[in-house]
Amino acid sequence: MSDYLIRALAYNNQVRAFAIDGTDLVNKAVNIHSLNPLAASALGRGLMGTAMLNYMQKDKNVVTTLQIVGQGPMKGLVCIADKTGTLKGYIKNNDYESYGEDGLFGVGACLGKGVLNIIHDLGLKTPYTGMIPLQSGEIGDDLAYYFTTSEQTPSLVALGVKLLPNQTVSLAAGIIVQLLPGADEKIITNIEQKIYNMKSATALLKKTNSPEGMIRELMNNNEVVITERVAMGYKCNCSEEKMLQGVLSIGKETVMEIIGEQEIVETRCHFCQQNYHFSREKLKKSLKE
Ligand SMILES: [Zn+2]
Repeated sequence: MSDYLIRALAYNNQVRAFAIDGTDLVNKAVNIHSLNPLAASALGRGLMGTAMLNYMQKDKNVVTTLQIVGQGPMKGLVCIADKTGTLKGYIKNNDYESYGEDGLFGVGACLGKGVLNIIHDLGLKTPYTGMIPLQSGEIGDDLAYYFTTSEQTPSLVALGVKLLPNQTVSLAAGIIVQLLPGADEKIITNIEQKIYNMKSATALLKKTNSPEGMIRELMNNNEVVITERVAMGYKCNCSEEKMLQGVLSIGKETVMEIIGEQEIVETRCHFCQQNYHFSREKLKKSLKE
């Protein structure tokens, strides 16, 4: 597993930046979910964005969820990141032809109109939540809008997934650059120009070979201080016990109704597609406990 995320400061602490190489983890997500090309791009961008959002939070226990609910055929997605470098996610509907007659040529078109929710859960009673209407639906633009409106932080966000014709991910990269309070606005104009010239986050990763290289390139080789480096991976933490609790949470009456008709209840984890089976006896016993 070679994926990692870095956090850095530059321009004498006027700018902070995050960069991630997510090639292996996005590849794993695409394989687990057998994603169509646009769903692969959407989930990959979402996962890398969520990882960077998570590492913007100071608290060590924070779990960050990025959720998109859209009216397009993809219907939306869910991505979750925590500070052990673990990422997981799923697309709500992957069962459509992404290059179909409807002319759905972009991630934004597949997601359609909708909203983006960000949830930072610190394990306290009320998690921090923020919501914006989707702008382009291309996810990078939407996150930039989120930072500007919800957090009043001018930000540049570039997220990209490059797929080969055989559906393997050749590159997945993300970068977020933010101006810290009191920063010279000219700096962001410079960086913006560099990102524009670079075309995409994956092109930048290809040219520079590493998250450190991506940031140094964008900062004009201005002194960059790397403050954090974390290995990243796609991993699900589901278990038989958690899935059982999920089944029971639909309510005693409903569970009784289902096991009245079925000997075995099957349930599948959205994040890793693993199936779990619970027998009628097991569920009856669990309901009593
Ligand atoms: Zn799972």
